Amino acid sequence: MNILAIGCHPDDLEIGCYGTLAKYVRQGHDVAVCHVANGNLGHVVIMPDELRDMRFKEAERAAKVIGATHYSIDIDDLYVTPENDELIRRLAAVVREVQPDVVITHYERDYMNDHMNTYYAAFRATFAASCGHFDLTATTPAAPVCPMYHMDTLTGADFLPTEYVDITDTIELKMEALNCHESQLKWMLEHDNIDFADMVRTCSRVRGYQCGVKYAEGFRLSRNYLRMVPKRLLP
Ligand SMILES: [Zn+2]
Repeated sequence: MNILAIGCHPDDLEIGCYGTLAKYVRQGHDVAVCHVANGNLGHVVIMPDELRDMRFKEAERAAKVIGATHYSIDIDDLYVTPENDELIRRLAAVVREVQPDVVITHYERDYMNDHMNTYYAAFRATFAASCGHFDLTATTPAAPVCPMYHMDTLTGADFLPTEYVDITDTIELKMEALNCHESQLKWMLEHDNIDFADMVRTCSRVRGYQCGVKYAEGFRLSRNYLRMVPKRLLP
């Protein structure tokens, strides 16, 4: 299968579903990761342009850790909206290139607008990519609407998983990928006193407790026409 994970900032997919993506890769599936926002406002000392480049490289390194292909839509932080037609065109082009069998993205109720809007943008772009006459400049063929899963919210707030993936065998890869995001982890620890690596491992442990394994990630299937399937697609 072709798997496409669409996250907001560089590091969101690492937090929410990299254990699962690494597991897909180990099972022989092709995984592509795409972040919509460039993360340019994620620091109060490093200036936006410099941070944008830094975070792109961090995300690229993280994708390499699990063997995924990396895409960036490169929208400035706080400007992610599903009404942004250029965003939708760029994202639909990625969808058409990947031809996903499964899409994983944010939940519609997360902690900030860019996250929630990434879900709505992913929903719009995956539908647009299926319309043969959308963006006639596109060189890639239309991609059918496919099942969509929501990954966990940050710290699992207001998110009740309906499906779990055992990531006990890939938790260290997930952590290695997360640790590629030095600009965020160091910053959060030094300035906000938040140990992000500990938070992510702890949340994976909690989801693991919920389903009887050591580490897990939780998901919900998007329950919309054309997005549901009568079988399990998560690894
Ligand atoms: Zn984020």
